[in-house]
Amino acid sequence: MDEASEQVMASFIVDPCTARAFSPLRRGQEIKVIDLKGGQVADFIVFNLEDPRERLSQSQTMVFNGQTLSLSKGSSLYSTKQNKMLTIIEDTCGRHDIMHPPCNRKILRDYLADGDRDGCEEHLASEMEKLGIDPSLLPYPFNIFQNTIMEGYKARVDPPISRAGDFVTLKAEMDCSVIVSSCAISSYGKKPIEVTIN
Ligand SMILES: [Zn+2]
Repeated sequence: MDEASEQVMASFIVDPCTARAFSPLRRGQEIKVIDLKGGQVADFIVFNLEDPRERLSQSQTMVFNGQTLSLSKGSSLYSTKQNKMLTIIEDTCGRHDIMHPPCNRKILRDYLADGDRDGCEEHLASEMEKLGIDPSLLPYPFNIFQNTIMEGYKARVDPPISRAGDFVTLKAEMDCSVIVSSCAISSYGKKPIEVTIN
């Protein structure tokens, strides 16, 4: 049996309006985020396993991918210390976001008029606490399948273009902890996200 066939693939479901932690994810392992039903955004945050103060940075990611807000195959996620955390090795959608915060209770209630309830920030923070990470370290996410459109300096968020089965696969460039949430915003349909680890 060769090395590849000995690897065990594990599959997990991130239920609608929840988050789930995947830790440790070792350097060289692959994490695949699948939009099972289509049109569902998944917030993706990542921490250095050894020191979670080093964590995903939206702005460092924008700079080190060549001053772009458009991430796809070949792009990497960078940390607050400007290190590569993961690299996108497959992407069947091609439209994601690296500039928005996670939704939270205030955004849902006051900005989107979408009810008085927890959002992705609260769900992600709860999983951080389970990993022993101070929730105040919560980084703004790589928002997989979020369809942010730029027109000059104005941004708007359109419905995702992801269809059922679309996925993004990222390869870890360092030992890390990942947390994925299935975005709680009602207009995305409150659908599950599948995550597989290889
Ligand atoms: Zn959300």
